[in-house]
Amino acid sequence: MLEDTAFLMADYEQRVQAQRTFFMKNKPFSLAYRVQQLTRLKQAVTANKSALIGALNVDLHKSEFEAYLTEVGFVLNELTDTIKHLKKWMKPKKVSTPYFLQPAKSHIHATPLGVCLIISPFNYPVSLCLSPLIAALAAGNTCIIKTSELTPNVSRVLTSLINATFASEYVHCISGEVEHVTALLAQKFDHIFFTGSSEVGKIVMQQAAKQLTPVTLELGGKSPCIVCADANIDIAVKRIVYGKMLNTGQTCVAPDYVLVDDSIKQTFLDKLVARITELYGDNAFNNEALGRIVNQRHTQRISELIEQDKVLVGGQFDIEQGYIAPTVMTNVDLSDAIMQQEIFGPVLPVLGFTNYDQVLQVIEHLPAHPLAAYIFSESKQTQALLNSKIQAGGIAINHCVQHLANPNLPFGGVGLSGIGSYHGKHGFDCFSHQKSVLSASTWLDLPLLYPPYKNKLSLLKRLFK
Ligand code: NAD
Repeated sequence: MLEDTAFLMADYEQRVQAQRTFFMKNKPFSLAYRVQQLTRLKQAVTANKSALIGALNVDLHKSEFEAYLTEVGFVLNELTDTIKHLKKWMKPKKVSTPYFLQPAKSHIHATPLGVCLIISPFNYPVSLCLSPLIAALAAGNTCIIKTSELTPNVSRVLTSLINATFASEYVHCISGEVEHVTALLAQKFDHIFFTGSSEVGKIVMQQAAKQLTPVTLELGGKSPCIVCADANIDIAVKRIVYGKMLNTGQTCVAPDYVLVDDSIKQTFLDKLVARITELYGDNAFNNEALGRIVNQRHTQRISELIEQDKVLVGGQFDIEQGYIAPTVMTNVDLSDAIMQQEIFGPVLPVLGFTNYDQVLQVIEHLPAHPLAAYIFSESKQTQALLNSKIQAGGIAINHCVQHLANPNLPFGGVGLSGIGSYHGKHGFDCFSHQKSVLSASTWLDLPLLYPPYKNKLSLLKRLFK
């Protein structure tokens, strides 16, 4: 083990050094170069579509539809969008210059950071690896990527796809267990982009702090779903079930739990049970739309959160097969185990409320700021009130999960749900330094700045007040 670690350390030190040399020699990569590399990536993903979708089915039992919607298609769309807009994103942005600095012009230049490390999780193993990579390359960086060891088939396809597409001094992909991350984190990177749990996020940030490396942390949390008395209940039920069951609940922004107004709670629960029965029948085991939990450890963990006497529908599980039936729980207390951690599975606790203060208390009582919050209400006033009071990475009103599909919206957490954001231009910015450039003219040189200062202070005080 010691030898392995020493070997990995030496190997990664060399790889990072090779990327740094390549970056320093060629920086900044031109627009043409970046577009060419992103186009190569697009061609490689297109050529490997079936292999990726097949691997997602083996590792997570993802249906072809979901695999395309949330992984392969998502990435292709992000590539198309980035290639189309990159010229505009790279253009220096002119900002005004105050009169006391005249004559001069001011611009903000988005400049690359250098050698970046991307660490990705298991739940969307393709999009959460390639989407940050697209942003990093668009911004003109080189990259080392670590895929998740929990989805070995996807990791295998991704590693060979990436390493066959790019020279290793530009982009290199690594699969493997945790010791690979440990060895990588001992190296000096210019930026670390981590997606995963808050626990591991803390480890990453601690290691990064040793070298003052900036981090983006895309973490998890408990995302509430608030259903108000005036909500369109049929739409709310459809969209909550969609958001919760997508990827079998293994979505960072899945509605974790529902808070429903007591006056409509019973109607809501009846419709929720009916919708789940309509979509998944009495036995969801062979339903092609329902995936599997990634491994036995997580299946066991989720099964232990289910209290059978609180189950309204579902509740069945098979640890060996990674199967958890779509489950609704009611009469749940905040002290129950299911409310004490991110569920990350197809189990939905439903709690009632009588006023919005209670809603806010529940959200604030839980240890983390939510990564997302969902508000179902037909009243603009209620939507605005809850939107202004809830601190969350993102909010969707009358829908679930969909906000992250808009590349014009930054995607990221707040507080314990994360640091920084990406997607579309926000991803480009995340992997760029915003360099301030003031360009002064020489035809005028006001003497105010220079010593001797005698008799200049009163003028300065008139200018700066
Ligand atoms: P994880 O934190 O267990 O693993 C993520 C990565 O960290 C993996 O590549 C893994 O190899 C590495 N890792 C694991 N243990 C480590 C350690 N001790 N030291 C160093 N590296 C280590 O996360 P996961 O289980 O793969 O993913 C699920 C979590 O990710 C959930 O909490 C979910 O909410 C979160 N998530 C967040 C987002 C987001 O965009 N905010 C997206 C997806 C998942």
